[in-house]
Amino acid sequence: MTTAAHAPGDAPRPLIELQGIRKSYGGRGGRGGKEEGAGSPATTVLHGISLRLYAGEFVAVVGASGSGKSTLMHILGCLDRPSAGRYLFDDQDVASFDADALAWLRREAFGFVFQGYHLVPSESARENTEIPALYAGMPEAERRARATALLERLDMGARLDHRPHQLSGGQQQRVAIARALMNGGRIILADEPTGALDSKSGAEVMALLHELADAGHTIILITHDRSVAAQARRIIEIRDGRIVADSGEHTGEGAAAIAAAPSPVFSRPSVTGGASLPADIREATRAAWRVMWSNRFRTGLTLLGIVIGVASVIVMLAVGGGSQRKVMAQFETFGTRTMFVSVQLASLRNPSAPLTLDDALAVRALPNVEGVAPYIEDRVVVRRGNIDHLTEGGGATVDFSRVLGWGVSRGVMFDAEDERRIAKVAVIGETVRQRLFADGQDPVGQDILVDKVPFQVVGVLASKGATNGEDQDDRVVVPLSSAATRVYGHPHPTWLAVQVRDIDKAQETAAAIEAQLERQQAGRHVLIWNRVEALRVQTETARAMTLMLGLIAIVSLIVGGIGVMNVMLMTVRERTREIGIRVATGARQRDILRQFMTEAVLVTSVGGTVGVVAGLGIVVGLMLAGVPVLFSLAASVGAFGCAVLTGVIFGFMPARNAARLDPVVALAGE
Ligand code: ADP
Ligand code: MG
Repeated sequence: MTTAAHAPGDAPRPLIELQGIRKSYGGRGGRGGKEEGAGSPATTVLHGISLRLYAGEFVAVVGASGSGKSTLMHILGCLDRPSAGRYLFDDQDVASFDADALAWLRREAFGFVFQGYHLVPSESARENTEIPALYAGMPEAERRARATALLERLDMGARLDHRPHQLSGGQQQRVAIARALMNGGRIILADEPTGALDSKSGAEVMALLHELADAGHTIILITHDRSVAAQARRIIEIRDGRIVADSGEHTGEGAAAIAAAPSPVFSRPSVTGGASLPADIREATRAAWRVMWSNRFRTGLTLLGIVIGVASVIVMLAVGGGSQRKVMAQFETFGTRTMFVSVQLASLRNPSAPLTLDDALAVRALPNVEGVAPYIEDRVVVRRGNIDHLTEGGGATVDFSRVLGWGVSRGVMFDAEDERRIAKVAVIGETVRQRLFADGQDPVGQDILVDKVPFQVVGVLASKGATNGEDQDDRVVVPLSSAATRVYGHPHPTWLAVQVRDIDKAQETAAAIEAQLERQQAGRHVLIWNRVEALRVQTETARAMTLMLGLIAIVSLIVGGIGVMNVMLMTVRERTREIGIRVATGARQRDILRQFMTEAVLVTSVGGTVGVVAGLGIVVGLMLAGVPVLFSLAASVGAFGCAVLTGVIFGFMPARNAARLDPVVALAGE
């Protein structure tokens, strides 16, 4: 899309051609009707404007206030679309351009200078100047250098870091001109650029426009002041939306001048295409941080919801995890669905019948019982060579492994055949192995004496460590039949390990076992260590806690999200004009969307970070106070992630609203 040199002899080609441009507001037909109140009667502001503008012209459009000059300029600058008529830019119909192509035109072809300057209040003179290049993707260093050179060229070198409110009107207008030139400013659209200036500053701005016209820029100057208009080379007079006079086209000469005298500072820079995404995001983050910082009190209050949500999730998970770990440690040694049954040992006052294998079978037949492992237990001395060791001896059935979840780490477990044959085979615990086989020999296949009876070691039990200070690995286990006949001389199990199927029914099952055993032998006092029930209660508590925690997290994140949305809506509203400025200087919808999404994500990231830090602080405090806590990295990351996600979800709507703002409406907004 260039104003390519035409072949000699051809009629010069206009840069911009308007054919019967009409613009109406309100009513049904008007394009701008939806924002301006579709119910109002239609007013036509432009009544068929036809116009040709050539490259290098210095044109003034003059007319009384309300004659439609600004409306015309907005259409020329592609900030607004006509209701009817054709607009050809370099022979292409602008109506066929999509939003991105229009943004491209605003960015690469036009440079706007407004009566009200329209600078972004939160950014410095240099940053304001850089904005169009930012959207054009010029690298940061190049952008800075060019903005600085332009501002220096416009006598603003000493004011680079001043914000607009620290500058006079004339200085602000210079910044606006520098900004218009940032991407080359082939066509400068100036709407009453001197309107708000004193006569001296006004004269200076006019002198600058002359200089630009001499350097080959196409200047379209809009003014109600005839003396200002008189300085242009071509004067178009507009009255009530119609052109009433035109001093005549200056075809072509200016275009020749461009080629003849390129001006190094004012001329169009080589823009290298889109900036890298990380650079864009870095830029957006920096801008977002500044906005957030300037509203830090309001933002901070809004973020409390997210901070509290994230911190409470972390603290509650840590405390819940800590207490659960403490309880679980006691259960983990044996299966979590196992309870232990024994009877109170006989005494003179309370003669109680011992447990029998029949009892085990009876319990096995009860509902909800998955397995029963009877166990005879008593202290025995084991011996190998000249090493004696006093340990916990035991006799077990083949159900031992399954019911207690206790297998071998080496060798094999004795089996039903061993049980039937009353075989002299044994498995030993890790502690016994270390004592008797300190020489490092493989115990499997070796003989040991269990209470003076020789047994062959067939396996080593997997290590269980200690529970309640008792070393579970300090034991030797032989088949129940062998223990009964060869070691202890009686067949009475010391306890039964009972595995239940459904832990929610553990309580009933325990009662049934007790009743059954008392029925087998009246007068027995049955003892049940119902770990299952304790575990069930624990699990239930943990489940309730998780649920409550989840609810708290969800509620506070929703509250936080609504806060974020509220802040974002406020921000978008307060910065409507800034959005208009950015669009007028070439921002695409996605640039605006990205900027506001970045703000939302940044705000929630900060909230999430504060929440994580606060949560961890509380966890550390609790730990120092002796409360069992379990820190979970996953919980911290998860809570932080949820906070950021909240920003994405709740920030999207306001950001999209911002991106979809109509540029003319946004520019007019306060
Ligand atoms: P000028 O810049 O020449 O002073 P404008 O182009 O701003 O004039 O406005 C021309 C006419 O269009 C005015 O009568 C104004 O009231 C009307 N107008 C401008 N913008 C709107 C709008 N958004 N809705 C309705 N009428 C509008
Ligand atoms: Mg105007």
